Amino acid sequence: TDEDALSFINKAEASFGDVGGMEDVKEEISLKIIKPLQHQDLYKAYGKKIGGGILLYGPPGCGKTHLARATAGEINANFINVGINDILDMWIGSSERNLHEIFEVARKNTPCVIFIDEIDALGANRNDVNKTAGRTIINQFLAELDGLDANNEGILVLGATNAPWYLDPAFRRPGRFDRIIFVSPPDSEAREAIFNIHLKQKPTDPIDYKSLAKASKEFSGADIMAAIDIAVEQKLQASFKDGIPKPLTTKDILKGIKKSKPTTKEW
Ligand code: ATP
Repeated sequence: TDEDALSFINKAEASFGDVGGMEDVKEEISLKIIKPLQHQDLYKAYGKKIGGGILLYGPPGCGKTHLARATAGEINANFINVGINDILDMWIGSSERNLHEIFEVARKNTPCVIFIDEIDALGANRNDVNKTAGRTIINQFLAELDGLDANNEGILVLGATNAPWYLDPAFRRPGRFDRIIFVSPPDSEAREAIFNIHLKQKPTDPIDYKSLAKASKEFSGADIMAAIDIAVEQKLQASFKDGIPKPLTTKDILKGIKKSKPTTKEW
């Protein structure tokens, strides 16, 4: 029902400022989907086509979901996060209608960003998804995407995948996911920014972000959060006695980094 669907729609709180690095990716998203939404008349005047989705691809934990949510926040849009398991569940319980309902909910709540994670799992090449299910859902999904393209309703569709090569080629046609953006592992500068974003709300001494970035080669954003979490747990231990939070230091975080493993090596 609409009500069920509405339980996973919410106003996005984050904005691009909460996403470390990815300046070029933000720029591209801005030009290709945010500006068209904000200046529909201008685009029309030049006969410039709008609509279609963007596919984000890259290693896990590097901020695709985070970026999609922030994109919604940038335009004060609602955000619907649909995981592949949601979609497969829908199939078990006659998904076609449900997939349609998601888009209906979005239509009633524009502007709206629909984010679909692990979209490659819909690819017919994968043997872990029932082929018939895959085909039916793919067709329904493509129909919804094509429908959006025709009447531009203030709905942006972002898809994410770690494995674009599995994606059914039908997704890539014009007006569908015709743009593909690589969300790379964060470089040193981006890692500095990510540490900053996730530490600035916590009690800390002045932090040497450069040395954190240097020590965290090949860390994803998620890895960075895990390293911070290790440091936080240590500090909690030290704070239990007197109940006063002890500020995190650069050294604490460096220790957290040492105890974590980077996950983006093969990218
Ligand atoms: P997956 O492919 O596993 O779904 P993903 O690319 O969607 O991964 P996210 O879920 O967006 O990754 O990132 C995991 C967590 O790491 C997020 O909650 C986010 O807070 C943090 N993170 C990742 N990248 C960044 C970034 N560039 N800036 C700030 N935080 C980040």
